[in-house]
Amino acid sequence: MQDTKNPIRGPYFRLLTIAAAGTGSFVLGLWGLRLGVGDQIAGLPAEAIGAIIASLCALAAAGSSLSFFAGVDESAGYVFHETQVDKLTGLLGRSAMVGRISEAAIATARSGEPVFLIDVDIDRFKQINDSIGYSQGDELIRSFAARLRENLPEGAEIGRIGAGEFAILLPDDETSEPVDTMIERLIELMMKPYQLSTHLQSVNLSVGIVAMPKDGTDPILLLRRSNLALQHARASGIGDWAVFQPHMGQVADHRQWVESELHTAFKRGDFELHYQPQLDLASGRIVGYEALIRWRHPERGMISPMEFIPIAEETGMIGPIGEWVLRRACSDARLIPDDCFVAVNISPVQFMTRDFLALVRDVMHDTGIEPRRLELEVTETAMMQDRDRAAHILKELSDMGISVAVDDFGTGYSNLSYLIDFSFQKLKIDRSFVSRMEQDSSSGAVVSTIVGLSRALGVHTIAEGVETENQATLLKAAGCDVVQGYLFGKPGPLI
Ligand code: C2E
Ligand code: CA
Ligand code: CA
Repeated sequence: MQDTKNPIRGPYFRLLTIAAAGTGSFVLGLWGLRLGVGDQIAGLPAEAIGAIIASLCALAAAGSSLSFFAGVDESAGYVFHETQVDKLTGLLGRSAMVGRISEAAIATARSGEPVFLIDVDIDRFKQINDSIGYSQGDELIRSFAARLRENLPEGAEIGRIGAGEFAILLPDDETSEPVDTMIERLIELMMKPYQLSTHLQSVNLSVGIVAMPKDGTDPILLLRRSNLALQHARASGIGDWAVFQPHMGQVADHRQWVESELHTAFKRGDFELHYQPQLDLASGRIVGYEALIRWRHPERGMISPMEFIPIAEETGMIGPIGEWVLRRACSDARLIPDDCFVAVNISPVQFMTRDFLALVRDVMHDTGIEPRRLELEVTETAMMQDRDRAAHILKELSDMGISVAVDDFGTGYSNLSYLIDFSFQKLKIDRSFVSRMEQDSSSGAVVSTIVGLSRALGVHTIAEGVETENQATLLKAAGCDVVQGYLFGKPGPLI
């Protein structure tokens, strides 16, 4: 690590040293000249005295230039530290990291020894920061950086290149294990909750990887490519990672298009809601409908929510879109039988906004929906972001008589202890378990365990993505209460 102190030899000090040395030499010169011209001192000839004086002058000059260059070195260290080191974490800053990537790229192009550039980004860091406050946000970044350092090999270089984004340069020969094994282990370690001063904070990560020199040697291009891989990983799920592939460039262009078009789409009224029935497994009766958003673009046709919801979450458009969904679903409730509820998906970003409860109250008031006819689907990831706040919001919703289903259950951070602190009425078993039930006995075991767990907690279970009779039979045998899936009805418009 570079010098981190302020330069002791500041510009004034250096000027003073040079001035003092210069004056000293001058006085010495004068003194010598006077003596040299006059009588001999201590029997020394005038030439010898001249030589001594010259040596003394040279010494003084050497001293002053040494001091000057030491000062320059210190200043360089200081400037480096001020401009190249990230103050919060002590890691390299973005521009220093670009320099290191460039150096590594040159070295790897010469030697052929691969070096990986790994982009690690905390999902929705901006929203986390807004909800926990900047000082705890800083605390989170510091702990994250320290844990990253602890869990990477000595020879890895780490830089903080964005608010919640880190770049790692890892020479292939620094790890004894294959890079994919190492990354998976790292992600698991980094996703363990962080103890902040007031609460435990969970984070999700996305990771993108490029290999040098294969994927390029230009540092900016490499960073762009590792970020493309990261975006790709983010789109495919929590805690995921991806290695850069050339087709990812097109995906990025599409993403940018979606981002720029969402606003217009909202104003133009492109969005609509489709509804998918949920049935009581024992009686076969429809008990509710899940509202699923659809984007009908005038030129491009239907765009899947999987494509645009994550982008809306990142850009903040989820605020107006989520509010629109809630209002529309609650007012659509008039069009479905009175003994059925509407289930509305609530994005984690929306769930954690300060005025979420006020919004729910407002919508209920405006639409006149009875609370028993509204169910909110909230993912476990949303609840884990800030457990205390989540517990408070869930308690309020429960007091209002609104049911909450824990969506995509089993796919998030698998710490079940939080279930005890939270008020909710249903666990929604993720489609990934249901679809594997027939082939893979461990998925069946997971489903039975979730049903058992929900019974112990006194809540109901719903299984999503049921496509075959066989799955329905297995779910019935496992004791699941409610089912939803193409077998019983695809999402569609209400009328
Ligand atoms: P989700 O909440 O897990 O919703 C279930 C998804 O599975 C829906 O996809 C649904 O159409 C699909 N699905 C239902 N039954 C089956 C089946 O039997 N087989 C298969 N293969 N799929 C089935 P969709 O509508 O594309 O929505 C995808 C995701 O987008 C949703 O996942 C949800 O996370 C999000 N989403 C949808 N609408 C909204 C919304 O209004 N607000 C928010 N925040 N997110 C939404
Ligand atoms: Ca859902
Ligand atoms: Ca799901």
